[in-house]
This record gives sequence, structure tokens and C-alpha cells, in this order.
Amino acid sequence: MWKNWSGYVACPQTPVRTPDDARGLSQLLAEAARDGQSVRVAGAGHSFSPLVASDGVIVSLDRMQGIVDVDAATRVARVQAGTRLYALGAALAQSGLAMENLGDINVQSIAGATSTGTHGTGLGFGNLATQIAALKFVTADGREIVASPGENPELFAGGRIALGMLGVLSELSLRLVPAFRLKLERGGMDLEDCLAQADALVAANRSFEFYWLPHTESVLTKTWNVTDAPVDETGLGRWVSDVLLENIAFGALCKLGRAMPSRCPALSRFCAAMISRSEQVDASWSMLSTVRQVRFNEMEWSLPADRGADALREIKALIARREFPLMFPLEYRWVKGDDLWLSPNFGRDSVHISVHQFVGMPFERYFDAVQAICLNHGGRPHWGKVHSLKAAQLSRLYPRWDDFLALRERMDPQGRFLTPYLRGLFGV
Ligand SMILES: Cc1cc2nc3c(=O)[nH]c(=O)nc-3n(C[C@H](O)[C@H](O)[C@H](O)COP(=O)(O)OP(=O)(O)OC[C@H]3O[C@@H](n4cnc5c(N)ncnc54)[C@H](O)[C@@H]3O)c2cc1C
Repeated sequence: MWKNWSGYVACPQTPVRTPDDARGLSQLLAEAARDGQSVRVAGAGHSFSPLVASDGVIVSLDRMQGIVDVDAATRVARVQAGTRLYALGAALAQSGLAMENLGDINVQSIAGATSTGTHGTGLGFGNLATQIAALKFVTADGREIVASPGENPELFAGGRIALGMLGVLSELSLRLVPAFRLKLERGGMDLEDCLAQADALVAANRSFEFYWLPHTESVLTKTWNVTDAPVDETGLGRWVSDVLLENIAFGALCKLGRAMPSRCPALSRFCAAMISRSEQVDASWSMLSTVRQVRFNEMEWSLPADRGADALREIKALIARREFPLMFPLEYRWVKGDDLWLSPNFGRDSVHISVHQFVGMPFERYFDAVQAICLNHGGRPHWGKVHSLKAAQLSRLYPRWDDFLALRERMDPQGRFLTPYLRGLFGV
């Protein structure tokens, strides 16, 4: 049975097909067209929104993984669309190459991650889709189409973030950088000090982000900088902070909070008191990503960079009213602006604010209230996370919306890749 990572979206009746190669994928799409079935392609199922949910066919590219070839001179690698990011990172390192930036985890498929605009942090870096040099789609009627700046440029502009609505990506070419090592430093700060110094911290570090702990004035800061320092081969320090503290201990506290919701503020204050300094060194593809064993649901907003602080202060005031049992930290990151039609970062440098709720705890009213605040600040929702916007609102947020709708109509006139959820999002 297909279900997403948080377990909130499940399709118990829908068959999952796993083609071995592009030919098998074309055949599968032709069969679905013949049978009049809708097709949704799944990556690693790490989206919180029901982008993959379908009562037709779900296609998984788990058997279409790996690097096809690497051009060392141009530093471009062609990779199969189902390749998981952790496997890609390790394989690229063998060629002395790396992706310039990654998100908070590295278990997504490359096509799934780029198709929703997945991003990391750092004003020097666009979201992962901006690292794409070319795309290869298999269309609903089984044809292959390549898109790059020189070949089908409109499809390249509209297709790098397209939620699996234009076709199934079978391959992506990625622009890479020489492999590098990062030092991650964790520390604590007062929230208002952090907001006051944020521009300087962003400028002074390769990447910077922070987590604000609800019902406190404390943040956990994370900075990443390139280093030649040796990797800690035992991995003990990393295990303590990543696995023991952020997963095993935090998971136990979340369960306590779920059982006794009125204690959530005290539990969050306890977590804030536990913030301590630590540092680790590892290869970039490993050091940028964390282990996430504590399951949650999540909403995330991309805001104009100068609106982030005020939006966060309003969310803080909302949480202070204690209408929601909440102890999950809020994440605050930066992403460089771009020109991808459906990118939440289209045309502006952005701050991203993510809010989470532990699995099994109510999130709807909390997320609705955060949505209202972020919309008011010009926010655009992360496509892969929970939100309740529909076409009428979304169309106002994206200057190239109509161009994307026209492109979708050309690529999939029969609506094979549409579902009721996507029809609602795009008004088609
Ligand atoms: C624990 C956790 C941490 C996360 N951290 C971050 C983060 O740091 N930054 C961030 O931005 N997001 C983050 N996310 C969100 C996540 O990166 C996105 O939702 C991403 O799209 C998931 O990738 P996936 O491979 O699981 O794809 P899925 O969720 O399975 O699919 C996502 C979309 O991609 C489409 N798709 C998948 N494969 C293809 C293909 N071959 N061709 C065409 N379309 C395709 C699907 O149809 C769907 O529309 C996180 C999610 C979780 C659960």
C-alpha cells in the first residue's frame, strides 16, 4: 500500500507499479492511457500534501536509480529520476563532485525533491530545482521530450517544478560543484538577538538557519562552513546530537506532550534548556542532512526575505495564546530567488518558515492560523507541505501561472496526470 512518510496520506486500493527502465515506463503510461486511468508518479513519499494520492495508478521509480554518466569537464551528471539523494551524494563523491546545497534530509528521490521546490538554507543558493541543467520527460502518450535552456526552453522554465503534472521525469542532468567538506556548528541564542543579527549571520556563513522553540525566547542556531578539518571517524558526537538528542530523547518528549497536551509549554522550555554547543565535520551531502525519525506533519511558507521576522513574531504571539498544544520547534531558513515558473522563490530572495505538529496531534487549526498570517505577508506555500489554498488564491501568487496552465494543457491535454486535488490547486 502506498502512503506518505507521515502516514497522513494513504491509498490502500491503488496499485503501485515499478518500471525497470524508460521503455517499461512508456509502456505503463500507454496502458494507463488505454484504460483511461490517471497516473501519479511517486518519489520517496516525503510530501505532506496529497500530491501523489490517486485512485488510478501510482508509479514508483525506485528501480530507476543511479548515475547515467558524468561530464567531468562541465561538472554535469545525468541521473535517473528515482535516485535517492543520499545514494546520489555518495556516488557523486566518488567522481569528486557534489550538489551545491541540499535540504534538511537526503532520503527523497531527486525528481521528487526538485518537483516541489525542495530547498536548504543560504541566500547564495536557490532551491534544488535551480541546479538542474536538463530534464527528460516521458509524456502521457509515451513520448520522450528533453528540456534545457537551448531545447524546449519553455518546458525547462515551467517543468523543473511541476509536481508530476507535465509527464514523468525519467532523467535529470544536474550542475555540480567540486566535492567539499562542511563543519556544522550548533549553538543557542535569544530569539530577538538572533533576528537582529540574522542578516549578518547569513552573510558571514555559507549557510545559516535557526529553530525557535515555542513558549520560550530561545533558538537553536545551525551554521555550516567549508572546512579542511578531518571527519570525526567514530561519528559518536554526531550520533549524540542527531540521533540521541534530536530523535530518541525528543521523540520521547513528544509522546509525553501528546499524552499530556497541557504540559507542552513546559516540555518546550525543557528542550530549550538542553540547547548546547556542538560541532561536527563530514562530507557536504551528509553534513547538510539530518536523521528524522520523529514523525510529524508540516506546513511551510516562503516569504519575501524582509517579511520573515514580522511573520515569525506574529506566529509567536499566536502560540502564546495557548490555543494549540505545541512543542515542535519552528524552522527559519533563507533561499535565493529564481525564475522557475512555479517556484515559491520566483522573483525574490525568500525566508522560509516551517511549522510542525507531532503525528497523532491535531494540526488543522494551528496550520490554518499560520497560513492566514503568512498569506498576509505575501507568503507562498511549499508545494509538498500542508496548506489549503486553491487555484483562485494560488494564481495570484505566481506571475507565470497562466503560462504554466498553457504548458500543462499542451503536455497533457487528456489530463492523465491530474487528480481531484490537483484540479483544485490549478482550477483545471
Ligand atoms: C522529514 C522531512 C523533511 C523534509 N525536509 C525538507 C527540507 O529541508 N526542505 C524542503 O524544501 N522540503 C523538505 N521536505 C519536503 C520534501 O523534500 C518534498 O515534499 C519532496 O518533494 C519529497 O520528495 P519525494 O522524493 O519524497 O517525492 P514525493 O513526495 O513522493 O513526490 C513529490 C512530487 O514530485 C512528483 N514526482 C516524483 N517523482 C517524479 C518524477 N520522476 N517525475 C515527475 N514528477 C515526480 C510527485 O508526483 C509529486 O508531485 C521534507 C519532508 C520530510 C518528510
